[in-house]
Amino acid sequence: MTYVQALQCRECGRRVDVAATHACGFCFGPLEVVYDYDAMRGVVTRERIAAGPPTLWRYADLLPVLDGPNNQQDARGASRVDLGAGFTPLVPAPRLGQAIGLDDLWLKNDTLNPTGAFKDRVVSVALTAARSLGFDTAACASTGNLAQSVAAHAAASGMRAVVLVPSDLEQAKILATAVYGPTLVAVKGNYDDVNRLCGELADAYGWAFVNVNVRPFYAEGSKTIGFEIAEQLGWRLPDHVVAPMASGAMLVKIAKAFRELVDLELVEDRPCRVSGAQASGCSPITAAYKDGGDTIRPVRPDTIAKSLAIGDPADGYYALEAVAASGGAMEDVSDAEIIDGIKLLASTEGVFGETAAGVTIAVLRKLVAQGRIARGDRTVAVISGNGLKTTDAIAPTVGPTFEISPNLDDFRTALSLQESV
Ligand SMILES: *Cc1c(COP(=O)(O)O)cnc(C)c1O
Ligand SMILES: [Zn+2]
Repeated sequence: MTYVQALQCRECGRRVDVAATHACGFCFGPLEVVYDYDAMRGVVTRERIAAGPPTLWRYADLLPVLDGPNNQQDARGASRVDLGAGFTPLVPAPRLGQAIGLDDLWLKNDTLNPTGAFKDRVVSVALTAARSLGFDTAACASTGNLAQSVAAHAAASGMRAVVLVPSDLEQAKILATAVYGPTLVAVKGNYDDVNRLCGELADAYGWAFVNVNVRPFYAEGSKTIGFEIAEQLGWRLPDHVVAPMASGAMLVKIAKAFRELVDLELVEDRPCRVSGAQASGCSPITAAYKDGGDTIRPVRPDTIAKSLAIGDPADGYYALEAVAASGGAMEDVSDAEIIDGIKLLASTEGVFGETAAGVTIAVLRKLVAQGRIARGDRTVAVISGNGLKTTDAIAPTVGPTFEISPNLDDFRTALSLQESV
């Protein structure tokens, strides 16, 4: 049983049957999964969701679960590609809130996913759909986190993985991808070069490219961040969510998730602003926002936030639309501010986020300082990746407080010197 009806073009509205395809054959607009919401009403309840597993699969009814050749079971127990992603903690952040001027701040801690980033959500959903559609090879272009997640999920489900990454990627991310045994291709170029190559490969090889031909299914996985935020707040929407943007898809899907919950009467309809964060060294979406236009001008990325370094973001236009519709805002921050954001988050809340998290926290701080988020607003910051993935970025700025010989006097002297600073 599936509630999935078809794929629908976001631009012209034409529908096509479910298949591994991402662009409208008529106008080349992006395709999106559509569901039979009428059939869900009264069936997909808070209780039914709460009775599900403590993973993103508790929202299976609202995900593109298909009936396919490799599905041995029904839609609720289908043969999923599942490492346990999702249903990550939503924790209050009073000390960080106090530092930046918010009384009701929360962190959606997606560092705690199986491979340490939010990408496990989209990959679990994409590979599940890919298997239902009959694929046995999963491929992707990645700025790092997607590569790790595809390699891990493919390994656990017996699929072959072919992942392509820019050759200048952080060493930690190369290592943490290679360990799962994929075919790992380092491409001399930036992410946008890798992605272009992937587009050509998708035409030549019959593989499931998670961010090309199965992108409509992949992108739906991001909705689960929005579902979880609402459920974990007691089935209530927050006042404000701040999310990092690479392609912009995550932000767009969080907004979609809130809309679906309202439509299904699982939460009360109330104003919830969604705001987007980018690094200044790769900020095509926030630049368009600041220009007040809706044209995304591609850029050449130059930032330590490599996981967000997409110069030509596929969902940039829709992210602008979602932010405008919700009354949110966008900002971008320098590499120095990103590092400060990482350290502020770690030192106030004990959460070590990667550079993308530094972007989110630094932008959050800016939006508060600008008065775009009010002190009393219940605000959720999406912490999308683990800091151990990007230690290179902060390595030059952290280290031992002091180094001493192993004797008490040395320790006393060093400590008093430190305390007199
Ligand atoms: C991919 C990624 C994002 C955002 O991705 P979108 O393309 O905007 O959906 C955010 N944070 C991290 C750590 C990521 O890996
Ligand atoms: Zn179309």
